[in-house]
Amino acid sequence: MKVVNDKLLNTPIAEIPEYYERAKKAYLFWKNLHIHERMAYLRNLRHYMVDQLEELVEVIAKDTGKVPVEALTADILTTLDAIQYIEKHGPRVLGKRRMKTPLLLFGKKSYVEYKPRGVVLVISPWNFPLQLAMVPVISALISGNAVILKPSEVTPMVGRLIEDLFQKAGFPQDVVQVAHGGKEAGSAFVQGEPDYIFFTGSVRTGKMIQEEAAKKLIPTTLELGGKDPMIVFADANLKRAVHGAIWGAFTNAGQVCMSVERVYVERKIYDPFIKKLVEEVNQLKLGSGMNDDIGMITYPGQVSIIREHIEDALSKGAKLLTGTSPEHWILDKELFIPPMVLVDVGQDMKIMQEETFGPVLPVIPFDSEDEAVHLANDSSFGLNASVWSSDLRKAERVATRLVTGNVVINDVIITVANHYLPFGGVKQSGIGRYHGEIGLQIFCHQTSVMSDKGKREREVNWFPYEGKLPLFFSLIRSYFGKHRSWGGLLKSYLHLLRK
Ligand code: NAD
Repeated sequence: MKVVNDKLLNTPIAEIPEYYERAKKAYLFWKNLHIHERMAYLRNLRHYMVDQLEELVEVIAKDTGKVPVEALTADILTTLDAIQYIEKHGPRVLGKRRMKTPLLLFGKKSYVEYKPRGVVLVISPWNFPLQLAMVPVISALISGNAVILKPSEVTPMVGRLIEDLFQKAGFPQDVVQVAHGGKEAGSAFVQGEPDYIFFTGSVRTGKMIQEEAAKKLIPTTLELGGKDPMIVFADANLKRAVHGAIWGAFTNAGQVCMSVERVYVERKIYDPFIKKLVEEVNQLKLGSGMNDDIGMITYPGQVSIIREHIEDALSKGAKLLTGTSPEHWILDKELFIPPMVLVDVGQDMKIMQEETFGPVLPVIPFDSEDEAVHLANDSSFGLNASVWSSDLRKAERVATRLVTGNVVINDVIITVANHYLPFGGVKQSGIGRYHGEIGLQIFCHQTSVMSDKGKREREVNWFPYEGKLPLFFSLIRSYFGKHRSWGGLLKSYLHLLRK
């Protein structure tokens, strides 16, 4: 566990019931504000964050080891954009929504209302510690939920920073509470009384949370891992594909759920692709400065997984074209791992099947579109994928065949940055979606309402049934049959009304 300002950040487990008590009280106040009042708090938060940009970058970069430009663009900018989306669209997306009423329910009107669920528990990981905590928190807040956030123990300074941001932006007390600690704290919070759990993290933890939540039927969203494929066809813009592969694989030192973790290249361009890839990867700069490209591995535990995957591949015949094999890594306090390109890789190796979450790019050639689709789909994950071709019809055809929550054409990762798009995975990559309209609505109960003026004594389908069966036969035949008859429908309906 890290120590911040000499203070161990650990919420005592015994205090967890008090977090829920306070959250429930804050909820009663917060949900009764008008949505525009809640939006004003979000706006203050956005302005306060923009005033503090340099400080935010400093804390995030220090706590994660990522380069400053990535702290600014991938953590802060994305959070600000999410706040702005919510300010712009929250009232419409969460407002009362008029729905159609079918003809056979004539005389009524229908609508849906979105109501906050209560206390939302958000548990977040360390790789984008600001964005992946803040976006679900603010998405839950706007409809009137109170939130308890348990950020990752691996990046406690950012956890403390988030607590500070909500205080400084003037949020009412206990509407957002940040609890600190590791898996014991996370697990104890899950066993509390949340009305919804939003989890981002590993498949293993996601399954444990889902199992616990199921005991009380607590609804969840699970945003889990990935093993994202990149398919490069021979007609792709080669330079762009190489640059995209490098950024997609090595941004945040590969610690991205949507990293490019495996590349399939059409055999016709395999050799020039590899040549260019190696040339360009060798230009990348490791370090923590503002002009560096690849930062540190944030979580020391991740190093052993990366090492295991590389060693498994090398022992089965794979070749390393850049970087160094694990026995030559010099990892003391600073976990910098040079970016690696691997070839002669087999689809069944760990490096192609398990999430590596490090700066490694394995590349395999393919011969046909069908083979590329088969290889890309041959995974227990399905978070993101990319398809590279100058023939956009072909690229879209392949995108349709991929079993994945997101696809990018001639680019990487970027769907997550478009806040209008729902984001989430299929298979082991998770359950549910956030971002976009759905990302606000998941934090609400939907109540469907139908309203009748209440003037008639009874409805046609109510008791008594005497004499109604033949009329219903006739009504159904007139309305749903091959030859619709409005006259027949009206006649049977009027008869039913008189019964
Ligand atoms: P993790 O599962 O180890 O931890 C995530 C969070 O869960 C942390 O806050 C941790 O303290 C908490 N936790 C751990 N055990 C718990 C338990 N038993 N009960 C409750 N909470 C518990 O994941 P991580 O190592 O922090 O993050 C890396 C993983 O997150 C990778 O697999 C990555 O792909 C995934 N991820 C997914 C997305 C996405 O949007 N799909 C985004 C980023 C990261």
